[in-house]
Amino acid sequence: MKPSTVQIKNTPSRFKHQVPKYKVTRSDACINCGTCVATCPYGVHERVEGHNRAKPPIDYKCIGFECRNSDFCCIDKCPRQALSLSLNPMYATLGDYRWTADMITGTWIMAETGYPPQRKDLEYNTGNSGGGFDKLRLKFVAHPPRVDKSEISTEIPLNRRNDGRADIVISTPVYGGGMSFGSVSLPTMVSKAHNAAIWNTFSCTGEGGYPEMLIPYDDHMITQVATGLFGVREETVQRVKIIEFKYAQGAKPGLGGHLLGEKVTESVARMREAVKGTSLFSPFPFHSVYSIEDHKKHIDWVKEMNPKALVSVKVSTPSDVDMVAVGSYYAGAHIIHIDGGYGGTGAAPDIAKKHIAMPIEYAITKVHSFLKEEGVREHMTLMASGGIRTAHDVAKAICLGADGCIIGTAELVALECVRCGNCESGRGCARGIASTDSELSDLFGEEWATQRLTNLYHAWNVQLVDILQRFGMRSIRELVGRTDLLEHIDYSN
Ligand code: SF4
Ligand code: SF4
Ligand code: SF4
Repeated sequence: MKPSTVQIKNTPSRFKHQVPKYKVTRSDACINCGTCVATCPYGVHERVEGHNRAKPPIDYKCIGFECRNSDFCCIDKCPRQALSLSLNPMYATLGDYRWTADMITGTWIMAETGYPPQRKDLEYNTGNSGGGFDKLRLKFVAHPPRVDKSEISTEIPLNRRNDGRADIVISTPVYGGGMSFGSVSLPTMVSKAHNAAIWNTFSCTGEGGYPEMLIPYDDHMITQVATGLFGVREETVQRVKIIEFKYAQGAKPGLGGHLLGEKVTESVARMREAVKGTSLFSPFPFHSVYSIEDHKKHIDWVKEMNPKALVSVKVSTPSDVDMVAVGSYYAGAHIIHIDGGYGGTGAAPDIAKKHIAMPIEYAITKVHSFLKEEGVREHMTLMASGGIRTAHDVAKAICLGADGCIIGTAELVALECVRCGNCESGRGCARGIASTDSELSDLFGEEWATQRLTNLYHAWNVQLVDILQRFGMRSIRELVGRTDLLEHIDYSN
């Protein structure tokens, strides 16, 4: 269900040219008759009022060869055969097997329009990795019970312990993962937080302190406490409703965190109480925690400091992740956040990504089943992250046993990340997303970025409601653990 604060506004790309799938070329034979401007319903051709000539085609909006079957195709309508359509060779360089070019383009369209793309030529729900969620499909039933979309709820509660702490219910089963100030720019961080407030959900500080610009969004922020303890202070623990202990990241378990000196600008250094230009490490592991009893002491420590807040425990996915989850329940945590091996931005080394932690789809079922076996599943919220790219991934993760998902890269892609993997090099991201360089971080404003994120969350919510309706369900909570609604494409009939 969409909160009343959510408003969808068309928010186009900040670049003159995206990386389009097709190239629409207008030759010199054009006589500027304006037919293509009038016929294309997607706005590829534009003519400014008072100008004779049409502007160069905005290729990325073109739906491609399928348009040839329509009665409005500009290629066929042009009286001078001045228009041609071809595949853009650059498109093949965009993305990778997990984040395909179609998936990136689909995410961009959702961030621009607020709705899932209507194009048949884009496979934006699944990637091409040959495993994981890309091999799973939702198994829709032929005649589901009739449910009106207005009756469907996507809300999930985060506190199931009945322990007198905050009863937090989020409006969509998704929230933003931790990305620290330093690893990403201030506009990126603030827009993530602002969007979380709009969607009545959460965003996480990551381990880099709590910039003052996040204070208006305190009720929707998670303060992360990780091994470097950068920016962890009494007031940053006390001002939020959720505190997260980060023990490890699925993209680089056992490696800790690393912020290169070039990204430690004056403001980052001030926030982290460090020296400008010095590389900063968050070691692995917490050297104060070697047992579940030590873990409980950690949780007791923050609970004492903030008597209302919920405690989340973020771990990667080792083979005993199920026992870690149950141990965390008995230590007093409200949320177990398991982070699988597919995630990570360009800051995680390739050698670690996908090669160390267990894939998230195995870890979710393992944790869900063991919490059930131990009789505590109903009292613990299970959130999954590490490669959740689409609304379909969210639905699949929930079918496997998660209550909801935490996303990172998808939010960056909404801000026009191209997955180039250069987040950690030099001054950081040339698109201003993962950079603290003052010139680069000014490349976009917070308002534009917030609206792109709000639009993306809306498009995903539209898809989730659609999925629930196709299953005849009234609540996203009915989907939890329904592995019978999934099929593996290698083993289906
Ligand atoms: S329809 Fe053809 S001739 Fe007319 S403006 Fe478009 S490209 Fe030019
Ligand atoms: S081919 Fe179709 S979608 Fe593409 S520019 Fe022409 S009319 Fe528009
Ligand atoms: S576009 Fe920026 S945020 Fe995205 S991968 Fe490249 S450097 Fe990182």
